[in-house]
Amino acid sequence: MNSEQKKVVVVDGDDASPEVMIPAVALLESMQLPITFERPLIGQAAIDATGVGFPEETKQAIDDSDCTFFGSTSGASTPALFYLRWGKQTYANVRPCQWTAGYNTPLANPQGIDFTIIRENLEDLYLGLEGDIEDLSGLNLVSPHARANLSDLGPGKYAIKAITQAGSERVIRYAFELARKRGRGKKVTLTCKYNMLSESDGFFRKIGNDIAKEYPDIEYDTYIIDDFLCRMITKPQLFDVIVMPNLYGDIMSDGAAGLLGGLGLAPSGCYGEHYAYFESAHGTAPDIAGQHIINPTATLLSAAMMLDYLGFGNEAAQLNAAIKQVYADGKVLTVDQGGNAKTYEFCDAVAKLL
Ligand code: ATP
Repeated sequence: MNSEQKKVVVVDGDDASPEVMIPAVALLESMQLPITFERPLIGQAAIDATGVGFPEETKQAIDDSDCTFFGSTSGASTPALFYLRWGKQTYANVRPCQWTAGYNTPLANPQGIDFTIIRENLEDLYLGLEGDIEDLSGLNLVSPHARANLSDLGPGKYAIKAITQAGSERVIRYAFELARKRGRGKKVTLTCKYNMLSESDGFFRKIGNDIAKEYPDIEYDTYIIDDFLCRMITKPQLFDVIVMPNLYGDIMSDGAAGLLGGLGLAPSGCYGEHYAYFESAHGTAPDIAGQHIINPTATLLSAAMMLDYLGFGNEAAQLNAAIKQVYADGKVLTVDQGGNAKTYEFCDAVAKLL
């Protein structure tokens, strides 16, 4: 076990998110690892105290920490998320999708599903560069495929989709390295809409094709994203590591969670060269806030990814095994999984097994 004291910043998040983050952190604390959990001021509490939702002290706390454990945000704490992503350059959003017996899946044969989606985390349409089409009029863009010319479009809005060489190379390389480390099928699948978006997504694919040559030990294939989605639903067991640009990754990983049995089962870690943060793939679940029925599995599996990142690999494996055991027992499950346990009861059941 790693004996060096680690520091983790905790952001409880908004709506139903604190209902899952608070018992999850309590569970981690009960493991008595050399980790200090710190909750700096953020969101509405920070606005009340300092006038801003993401004060300088909170940014400093993140800079001084080893990683952040992040609850989903919908409001005033969102600037912290932007800092964790773009400020800390956490470019690889890793979203595992692994079947566990007891999950409330819609599939007849879910056994053996064990793939990981790697979503590029910083580029594509998530740059937030949007505006009026009129503002682009000086560009006089003409489609090489004669689909449309900018000058013919009339009033409307645009959004910029940017696929850069450096951003694509680093996330695709991350996918190949992960496939080597996982040692499962040793396969990387790259997917995007490279036929229609031949410049941008075509570029992403070309970079993947070039990098694949550096990894002769790893099988590599590419699919157009719509074809990929059909295959992910009908033959999910065939995939190992799948890499894709940002927006597709957002959508496909929610779909992958659906294969297993819902958003409450989908963990996520966002890794950069020097920092990482961990959060469930789902949002703040505002429609069930206040009821303490939000499924903590995604958050606990993300916590296990975090323990692994911090150097506590054995403890991460123990946490994963305890979660699996609760599902195998099938007695303490949340409503979305067909049970009637509260969020904290599920966490208690996991804690008892640790
Ligand atoms: P975002 O865009 O921020 O990811 P979203 O719009 O996809 O958010 P979510 O907050 O993820 O929305 O919720 C979508 C649906 O899934 C809601 O009905 C919510 O209650 C449900 N849901 C999400 N997470 C969980 C969970 N952990 N347990 C049970 N239900 C959940």
